[in-house]
Amino acid sequence: MPLYVSTRSNAPAISSAEAILKGIAPDGGLYVPGTIPEISPEELKSWLNLDYPTTSANILAKFLTDYTLGELSECTAKAYSDNFSHPDICPVVMLNRNTFFLELWHGPTAAFKDMALQILPYLTELALRKCNSDKKLYYLVATSGDTGKAALEGFKDKDFCKIIVFFPEDGVSKVQKLQMVTQEGKNVKVVGVKGNFDDCQNGVKKIFSDSDFNPETLGSYELTSANSINWGRLVPQIPYYFKAYLDLVKQSAIEFGEKINIVVPTGNFGNILAAWYAKQMGLPVSRLIIASNDNRILTDFIETGEYDIRREFHLTPSPSMDILISSNLERLLFEVSGHNWKMVGELMSQLRGDKHYMVSEEILQKIQYEFSAGYANGSECSDITFKCYDSSVYTIDPHTAVGASVLEKYKKKTNDPSKTIIASTASPYKFPAAVLDSLGINPGFYDSEMDMMADLETCSEKMPIPNFLASLDEKPVLHTTVCSLEEMPEIVKSF
Ligand SMILES: *Cc1c(COP(=O)(O)O)cnc(C)c1O
Repeated sequence: MPLYVSTRSNAPAISSAEAILKGIAPDGGLYVPGTIPEISPEELKSWLNLDYPTTSANILAKFLTDYTLGELSECTAKAYSDNFSHPDICPVVMLNRNTFFLELWHGPTAAFKDMALQILPYLTELALRKCNSDKKLYYLVATSGDTGKAALEGFKDKDFCKIIVFFPEDGVSKVQKLQMVTQEGKNVKVVGVKGNFDDCQNGVKKIFSDSDFNPETLGSYELTSANSINWGRLVPQIPYYFKAYLDLVKQSAIEFGEKINIVVPTGNFGNILAAWYAKQMGLPVSRLIIASNDNRILTDFIETGEYDIRREFHLTPSPSMDILISSNLERLLFEVSGHNWKMVGELMSQLRGDKHYMVSEEILQKIQYEFSAGYANGSECSDITFKCYDSSVYTIDPHTAVGASVLEKYKKKTNDPSKTIIASTASPYKFPAAVLDSLGINPGFYDSEMDMMADLETCSEKMPIPNFLASLDEKPVLHTTVCSLEEMPEIVKSF
């Protein structure tokens, strides 16, 4: 049964419920399962006709062994139901015979973060009971745009917690910002930060290790994280790769056992790491392809073995991937080094101190053996968005466009004929200005984002505007606080 260990020390392993409550280990490390569970081809095949909630519960049960399958089935049934606008929850859509989009954005906030953040509150509520905890949780969230809203929707009005979200004031799209500052709920606070996402994330990490935040000052609350550093955020992202694979088998797009490639538009390295775990469990995957925007730090890392944040930070049309510190890479380094926590601790302290680190040749080879990486700039993303629309009347958002463009470049370079799933991470309606611009329609022509959405709907025949986005501009703005990095701790204390 997988107990959970930290990537930075050999402190005793803990249960999955404890790992979900803590979010981050006391030594600053991230929790990973002590062993990775496996799924045999026979077992996988027997899941061919299961729906999403059932598939998801089966996979979660292999990792969260202190939960019963019954409990997990109840959680997945509640989390993946009519709060999603598609009956299949995350359908696979064919672009051409070799390329498929896994649409992960039919949840209540129109980005893939809902796949994890709709279920995390249920897992957490159970975890509190399992650990006999009478504490309440105080979620500190740093967001590059989508996590914040998805976490707010998941945790609003839940009695066992309160939640504060920090977003980069000038680093998210208009729709993303409007979604957050109109958030209702009695236990929520949303704050703009003068800085970029890495600043927000560092600010939050600092508060976690700040001795000012102790049981005396926090009272009945305990600080925790809803970012993908929390295992409870990452593990619900593993099942959809299995479901997508089985769907392709069912559609006769692939043979059972055939290896596929997976492309993931990547920021914090959570979503693609979930695909890596799926592969280790036995999912037939050939290459995992990391797709970056102009913040191409991971592409450079996969090529050279050096992770170097001494570079310019770019604001791009895919803001949720505007990240230089991809936190979940720490988990991969721990896994491929055979749980070498000493090495991981050293690398992470080099990153903090020297702003870069270099992995050994052996580690680099192990990573290159499974991952490819590429990046796409704004005009390449625009081109591929137009191409998808032109060839298939299918609109994609700017993040998914990074994935599609990187795949196109990868295919040209390698001639790899494998069928490929691209993780489609957000609805195009979340980024109407960028999408219309790519389709050759000048967004300057419109009075509001809402008018843009209406026109986008006309373009994308089969794809209706999600309800909650359609009424967004009628909602009152409830959150207006903007702060500097230095003011973050004070704001956390006073809420
Ligand atoms: C968060 C996000 C990403 C990046 O995912 P990671 O798990 O952080 O790598 C990509 N696209 C969208 C739309 C997102 O919201």
